[in-house]
Amino acid sequence: MTDRISIYDTVAVDRLRAELKFEPRRLRALRTAYLKKFLGAQAALSELPADVRGEFARRVEFHSLAVADVRDSQLDGATKLVLRTAAGFSMEAVIMRTGTGRVSLCVSSQVGCAAACGFCATGQMGVAKSLSAAEILDQVVLAGERMQAEGRCVRNIVFMGMGEPFHNEQAVYEAVAALLSPELFHHTPGRILISTVGIPDAMVRCARRFPEVNLALSLHSVRPEVREQLIPLAAKYSLEELRAAVVQVNRIQNNSVMIEYLMLAGVNDSLDAASELAAWMTGLDVHVNLIPYNPIESAPQWRATEQPARDAFAAVLRQAGFTTTIRYSLGADIAAACGQLVQRENRQIARQQTRQPTPVA
Ligand code: SAH
Repeated sequence: MTDRISIYDTVAVDRLRAELKFEPRRLRALRTAYLKKFLGAQAALSELPADVRGEFARRVEFHSLAVADVRDSQLDGATKLVLRTAAGFSMEAVIMRTGTGRVSLCVSSQVGCAAACGFCATGQMGVAKSLSAAEILDQVVLAGERMQAEGRCVRNIVFMGMGEPFHNEQAVYEAVAALLSPELFHHTPGRILISTVGIPDAMVRCARRFPEVNLALSLHSVRPEVREQLIPLAAKYSLEELRAAVVQVNRIQNNSVMIEYLMLAGVNDSLDAASELAAWMTGLDVHVNLIPYNPIESAPQWRATEQPARDAFAAVLRQAGFTTTIRYSLGADIAAACGQLVQRENRQIARQQTRQPTPVA
C-alpha cells in the first residue's frame, strides 16, 4: 500500500494544491495533459510551477501498476499489456486496433474470478482479488499513453477483461465515475461497456447510476442446466430473474443491452437453441453478439462452433428480428483470451503470499 495521494482523488489533490499554493488552472492543465491527452506523468508535471513539481510528484501517485510485458500480435492489431499490481499480481489489458483505425481497450476488474466459468482462463484461476479503482483506471492511462505515441486514442473501453465487474461493484463504479468526470477523463458514456456474468440487482443498480453506459450480459444459453454447466454461478440467479433485470434495464436506459452468446459445438449451438434464445429475448431491447470460442488449455472438452453452424444460428436470430453480430476475434497468437498469459504465474504468487487474496461474495 502507498500513503501517497491518488491522482484520481480530486478532493485530496485539490487540498495539496492549496497547500503548495499554485493556481487551480495549473492543476487543470496537469489533469488535461495526463488524463485527457495521455501525455504521461512527466509532461503533465511540467504544467505545474517549477518550484512545486518535485513535491507534487513525491506526494501524488500517478501509476499504480507496473508494465511487466507488452505483446504485439503479429497477426492483427491487438496488443496485450501484462500489468502488475503493487501486491505482485499480474493481470491483463488488451488494446484492439480495428481496420477502421478505431481502438478499443479491454480492461480487467479483478485478478481471478469467483464465477469459475469452465471455458474461461480467468475463471480457472479461482477466487478473485479485486482491483482498486486506481488500478482499473491505470489500465486506461497506460493504454492511452501507448496509443498517444501512435497518434491514436482509445475510443471504446470495455470491461471484458479478467474478473466479474459486479463482484467489484464499488471500485468499478468509482472508476466509471472518474472516466465520465469532466474534470478527469471526460470519456463518452456510450463508449463504455460493462460485461457481466449476470447479477440481476447489480445490472439494475448500474443502469440507474450510469444510464448511458452500455451493459452486456453473458447469457450463453437459455437452458438452465446448460447455462449452469458453463457458468457455475448461474445456479444462484435464475434465467427469469435475469430476464426481469434486462426488462428493468431497458426501462431505465435508451441503449439496447448486448446479449453475449459463446458458441460451443454440440453444447449450445443447435438451431433449436437459437429459436429458444429468440423466444427468451422476445420483448426485450437487445442485440446479440455471438462469440467464437477461444480454446483454453484447461478445457479440452469444448470445441468452437464451425462457421457454417454459427451463420445458421445467426440467421435464426436475424429472422426473428434481432440484430446479431459475430465477435471479431483478435490476437490469437498472443493468447488474447484474457487470463491465459498470467494464469500460471498468479497461482505461484498466491501460494507464496501469506495473506490470501480476498474472496468475493
Ligand atoms: N465476467 C464478465 C467479463 C468476462 S470476459 C462476464 O462474464 O461477462 C467477457 C466475455 O468473454 C464473456 O462473455 C465471457 O463469457 C467470454 N469468454 C470467456 N472466456 C472465453 C473464451 N475462452 N472464449 C471466448 N469467450 C470467452
